[in-house]
Amino acid sequence: MENTSKQSIVANNVILQSEDLYKYILETSVYPRELEPLKELRNATANHPTAFFGTAPNAGQLIAMILKILNAKKTIEVGVFTGYSLLLSALTIPNDGKITAIDVNRLAYEIGLPFIKKAGVEHKIDFIESQALPVLDKLLEDPEEEGSFDFAFVDADKGNYWNYHERLIKLVKIGGVIIFDNTLWGGFVALPEDVVPVYKREWRQSTILFNKKISEDPRIEISHASIGDGITICRRVC
Ligand code: SAH
Ligand code: CA
Repeated sequence: MENTSKQSIVANNVILQSEDLYKYILETSVYPRELEPLKELRNATANHPTAFFGTAPNAGQLIAMILKILNAKKTIEVGVFTGYSLLLSALTIPNDGKITAIDVNRLAYEIGLPFIKKAGVEHKIDFIESQALPVLDKLLEDPEEEGSFDFAFVDADKGNYWNYHERLIKLVKIGGVIIFDNTLWGGFVALPEDVVPVYKREWRQSTILFNKKISEDPRIEISHASIGDGITICRRVC
């Protein structure tokens, strides 16, 4: 068969993604509906040395859908970068909604901030420049914050995902949703370590351990979706 590396493959009734299929999804279903401020922020980030940090727009579309279905109003964002997923959430939740957004890097956030301001949604965002764990711990000191969040999106240091989960499971209400990004780690979770670039090995290992633990956690229901770099959608059940 010609050009197999670019073709999607069907295995056991599952379509494995290809570049062509990703492009098709973006062009058919995502870009025509992507809101203008998000497009602008994405384009302004495109030449950044770590532009690949930005949430995949098709995963973003799914996240926005989940926020809408949940009627989410109060959310947490761990790992902002220039703010693609943050702006997406801010545009999706109601006008009196609130997002606690945490990142160690304010400079990256400031690249996206003009687009957030222009979109008129800055008032929904409380950006905190900090390591995420102490902020989550501080929130938990206030009993009123416990179980008060509808949704959390986690997209920061993969070595801390389980620590974030242990805090967020208490901050998010029963029926609320936590989404973890990059849980397929470029597909390397399913490959032997010797084919993985050395610099990617540590967080591959963290991700493999996290995926195993989360699959055994009875406090949540999960869907491990092969979209973007893999997202794990967790719904708190108790
Ligand atoms: N969701 C973003 C991408 C986040 S990239 C988007 O859609 O564009 C990961 C971010 O996590 C980086 O900006 C990095 O500064 C931040 N980060 C890494 N370790 C962190 C930590 N311990 N606490 C808070 N933020 C952290
Ligand atoms: Ca990510």
